[in-house]
Amino acid sequence: MPTDAHTNHLDALVTKLKSAAAPFRSTLNDLHARYKDVNDGKVADYIPELAKSDPKWFGISVVSVDGQVVEVGDFQQLFSIQSVSKPFVFGQALEDHGRAEVLAKVSVEPTGEAFNSIVLDETTNRPFNPLVNAGAIATADLIDGRDFSERISRLLAVFSRYIGRPVYVDNSIFMSERTTGHRNRAIGHLMLNFGMIRDRVEETLELYFQQCSLLVNCHDLAVMGATLANRGTNPITGERAIKAEYVKDVLSIMLSCGMYDYAGEWAYRVGLPAKSGVGGGIVAVVPGQFGIGIFSPPLDAKGNSVRGVQVCHELSERFGLHAFEAGYTGPSMKEQFRPHGDAHK
Ligand code: GLN
Repeated sequence: MPTDAHTNHLDALVTKLKSAAAPFRSTLNDLHARYKDVNDGKVADYIPELAKSDPKWFGISVVSVDGQVVEVGDFQQLFSIQSVSKPFVFGQALEDHGRAEVLAKVSVEPTGEAFNSIVLDETTNRPFNPLVNAGAIATADLIDGRDFSERISRLLAVFSRYIGRPVYVDNSIFMSERTTGHRNRAIGHLMLNFGMIRDRVEETLELYFQQCSLLVNCHDLAVMGATLANRGTNPITGERAIKAEYVKDVLSIMLSCGMYDYAGEWAYRVGLPAKSGVGGGIVAVVPGQFGIGIFSPPLDAKGNSVRGVQVCHELSERFGLHAFEAGYTGPSMKEQFRPHGDAHK
């Protein structure tokens, strides 16, 4: 039985934790309330499992580099990570092979083509960047291991370090991705033809389909983003997920190529490294400060979460988060995150 002293102590602790980051909590509540009724966009339906997502699901999570968490809405709802996985696998490929070897297999140019287009750079035969399917399959090929099971364990371990818990693949999503993934198979074989990937295409595609089918929630995405913001160390577990020297590689690719065919406008208007996926997730990074995770399944015509894009636009404008916003003096997200926030001003 807990004594009164225990209960009082626990109550005090809970109050303290709740008041931490309180001003930002009301900011997020307000954002969530204003954007939850936006009904634009369409849930992805290229496989039946994704079409089952509730268009009303909407969660926002923000994690600071000192491990504070503020989140609202459906931040515990699991969904498949899909393309949000791509920059993280690129990071691991860099760790396994170094820059020169990775860049010999995948370029870093944005492409005006669709994410699943079957085009390679005409002169070098490289896929355009690691965040389109071709580039992502090329980077999955670079994940090392003695055999398939070691490769998949290493890949899952990367995500576990970023997220701070064991990760799981949704089997029915994986099976659907694999059964319907003919276009990705075609891309894989085209790259094999040009010697861009090794002669184990089926195995590498399995790896790619598994990575797309990993289950995460938007809290996890925010922790992953905060890990990149924190130079590669997960701010909650203290575990390193990627060598600090490669964080800038991952972030710069996210800034220029992370949001499908909206990437240019995103870099111009929001100015944060980010990645979206067809499951409705977006991760955005405020380097040195925060990871932001948003989940809302309805997608716009370019494939980005409608509410996710709107929330990021507003956060960036309201708190001057744009990477090139020099000399910004307006309201500060960091300040709002401090315990009793504004009181420190
Ligand atoms: N898994 C899907 C594919 O590879 C979609 C990935 C994504 O989020 N664009 O086609």
